[in-house]
Amino acid sequence: MNNFTFYNPVKLIFGRGQLENLPEEVSQYGKKVLVVYGGGSIKRNGVYDNVMDRLAAIDAEVHELPGVEPNPRVSTVRKGIDICKREGIAFLLAVGGGSTIDATKAIAAGAKTDADIWDIVTKKVQATDALPFGTVLTISATGSEMNRGSVITNWETHEKHGWGCPYTYPKFSILDPAHTFSVPHEQTVYGIVDIMSHVLEHYFHQTGNTPVQDRFCESILLTVKETAPKLLEDLENYEYRETIMLSGTLALNDMLNMGFRGDWATHNLEHAASAVHDIPHGGGLAILFPNWMKHVLDEANASRFKQLAVRVFAVDPNGKSDYEAALEGIEKLREFWNSIGAPEKLGYYGIDESTLEEMADKTVIARPEFGNFKKLTRDDSVEILQASL
Ligand code: NAP
Ligand code: FE
Repeated sequence: MNNFTFYNPVKLIFGRGQLENLPEEVSQYGKKVLVVYGGGSIKRNGVYDNVMDRLAAIDAEVHELPGVEPNPRVSTVRKGIDICKREGIAFLLAVGGGSTIDATKAIAAGAKTDADIWDIVTKKVQATDALPFGTVLTISATGSEMNRGSVITNWETHEKHGWGCPYTYPKFSILDPAHTFSVPHEQTVYGIVDIMSHVLEHYFHQTGNTPVQDRFCESILLTVKETAPKLLEDLENYEYRETIMLSGTLALNDMLNMGFRGDWATHNLEHAASAVHDIPHGGGLAILFPNWMKHVLDEANASRFKQLAVRVFAVDPNGKSDYEAALEGIEKLREFWNSIGAPEKLGYYGIDESTLEEMADKTVIARPEFGNFKKLTRDDSVEILQASL
């Protein structure tokens, strides 16, 4: 592995009833609070009322930014920044999923600068500070609750980019698995796919000697694979929700990728598809990941795919070449995602050949090559997207 420094300052507050810690946590940062949330799920499942009661208990002056979209838009982020500046907000509280948290990260950074937040997202300008913020997570998927990353969409230019900076780690994240009971079946599937995809992105790297990290990754993949079908039959099972929630956080809090950087080409491809078609992140990944795998697999890198196939997908390697075992593993991943109801083709979202070139353009908008396990170009994007139609 490479030399590394691990730094993750997020205070993780995990378990049933942990929202009771909210008043104490928020009071450390001031009373003017902007609560950021999505399209209303928190009002239907009671989380909103619980959060507001806790904030009332410390006499917080509460402002609200509702309506953060799945695939959060820079236009909404700008609204949040305006509120922060106008009202002198001291602390942001994201209550929701990855979209709400990612938007909050961008608002927090944007509130502390005169630069346009889109220039920060597109890395033309660096953030130099951010307002402090915390999160109350309501869906297991992105890991955004314990990392500094934020993915923002510009719907005018049809671009979706990930960015992050040292100031965009949440101060704390409250994770009560019971807050995820109301996540619908389909959205639960998307979260499961996103979690597995984060682990897979780490798994495909070209840095030698990472046996500990490999086993960490495999243990999360095996656990999610074992738990997901049970959870999908029993959406309000606390223990299954708990297992998936912890898996989601660990999958992208930089513990699995100590000493190397994973691939991330499939996330780039998915961001391109979402930028043009606004499809759910996990749905796009379910379609694209196995096709990325088939596209990059070759004799030279097959042993890595074979290790995944044997250890996670119980492929019997006897009498098979590495390449054959690898291919069987990819098929098993495809079958598993199909078995839990994840989509297999872009056509599921009504996407056809007509926007293929536009999506391919978006994959190279930030740089001409992408992916670390194998460098890909626009031509590769076209082939992977074609195979996904
Ligand atoms: P999300 O977009 O935050 O939410 C998806 C849907 O789930 C929304 O309609 C939301 O409804 C609903 N929902 C959330 N919690 C719910 C609950 N408890 N009960 C019922 N419905 C609930 O989903 P996400 O997968 O967490 O986030 C996806 C975004 O994160 C994408 O933009 C993706 O690119 C990005 N992402 C970020 C990272 C990162 O590290 N920062 C990593 C991967 C992906 P409401 O809007 O009504 O609440
Ligand atoms: Fe993701």
